[in-house]
Amino acid sequence: MSSRFPDGKSLTRRRFLGSAGASLLLLVSRSGQAAASTVLAVRVWPAKDYTRITIESRESLVFTHQTVHNPERLVVDLEGIELNEVLQSLPAKITGQDPYIQLIRAGRNRPGVVRLVIDLKSEVVPQVFTLKPVGEYGHRLVLDLYPTEPVDPLLALLEKLSPEEAAAGGATPPAKTDSKPGRKVAEAERKPAEAARREAPVEPPAAQAPPKDDQGVTRLITIAIDPGHGGEDPGAVGAAGSFEKHVTLSVGRRLKARIDAEPNMRAMLTRDADYFVPLQQRVSKARRVQADLFVSIHADAFISPTARGSSVFVLSDKGASSTAARWLAQKENSADLIGGINLGIKDDHLARTLLDLSQTAAINDSLKVGKAVLGELGGINRLHKGEVEQASFAVLKAPDIPSILIETAFISNPEEEARLNDEAYQDRMADAILRGLKRYFAKNPPLSKSKLARLD
Ligand SMILES: [Zn+2]
Repeated sequence: MSSRFPDGKSLTRRRFLGSAGASLLLLVSRSGQAAASTVLAVRVWPAKDYTRITIESRESLVFTHQTVHNPERLVVDLEGIELNEVLQSLPAKITGQDPYIQLIRAGRNRPGVVRLVIDLKSEVVPQVFTLKPVGEYGHRLVLDLYPTEPVDPLLALLEKLSPEEAAAGGATPPAKTDSKPGRKVAEAERKPAEAARREAPVEPPAAQAPPKDDQGVTRLITIAIDPGHGGEDPGAVGAAGSFEKHVTLSVGRRLKARIDAEPNMRAMLTRDADYFVPLQQRVSKARRVQADLFVSIHADAFISPTARGSSVFVLSDKGASSTAARWLAQKENSADLIGGINLGIKDDHLARTLLDLSQTAAINDSLKVGKAVLGELGGINRLHKGEVEQASFAVLKAPDIPSILIETAFISNPEEEARLNDEAYQDRMADAILRGLKRYFAKNPPLSKSKLARLD
């Protein structure tokens, strides 16, 4: 049986069971018997994309798992542990709003084996894997429950009406009488392809005019907003205990609302809840919606609490612009280790596209948009550095989409941490970013992008 995964790869379910069996054999043969461990924490991260359950323990857990149908269940046996209070608290962490889990039962199955039975709301594609200790975390066993049909980021985009639809009072235009989601996605998929064909007009549009297609219809500029971190990965933590992941989501949502309110723009969030999204997945989502721009939002941290100010980063193809920029890129790139990705699943597709020659053109555009945004941020906050910096951020590596990473302020600076938590300040931050984006697109309308890239 073949299942589609969010990264677009097809894998058979047998391979998962096979790899779980292999890891079990390995662990048992190494120690002769299953090592005893203690469960230290359990966490649940429900989201439309997937629901994750994390079981953190002192030693690596030995486990087996199987899916059972009619009704749908995932059964996980944990060996060499006791059903302690922490593990017993897991069922209560499931809310009725969880998209995939109905309820969890935990019980002693046989001596030294705890069985978790996860009753599912629908069939899921599970990914069960372990993570080695990193940062604050001990050993983690991760149960990711994906829908059999991956959530398509295009669907989120369709929530924003086109100007014609808005002009028609928000009603569905006659051409789109079929309201089945599949049909809508198919239409949305065609749109970027048509837009691509229109990207080499005989006459480039005037610099200030909104981009129009051959019927004179305004094309929406699509912005992918990427709230940094999420779920298992809190990002930087402020002295007062604020998590970067909450600040980035809050600023990201405010920015999305502002962009969607613009007649010629629409936005897609790479995550709109508190869950972990791997770095490559963030880029894939932006490419899936054919974004004209990728904006990653973060909040900086440094050892010294006096470090302060806003920064904007773009990708470097020649090395980092400063030691601090290199250090920061390494720190941000470690999000996948903290957040936890299944190393058994590799997305070769993106690795290949990274070699695309158009990357240089995207970096030139990224520098332009970065400069425009940095200028506006300078109006509301001190700047950490007066220029756009460059380093090898994994999340900025879409070869064909101009991408910037904004460090809104230092969450490690007590004064800036307080401002980052202030809703009025978050609004001003979103306003400033939008002004920068609009300033960039006024000078670089997306329709003439390919032409400009060639002239560069
Ligand atoms: Zn960050």
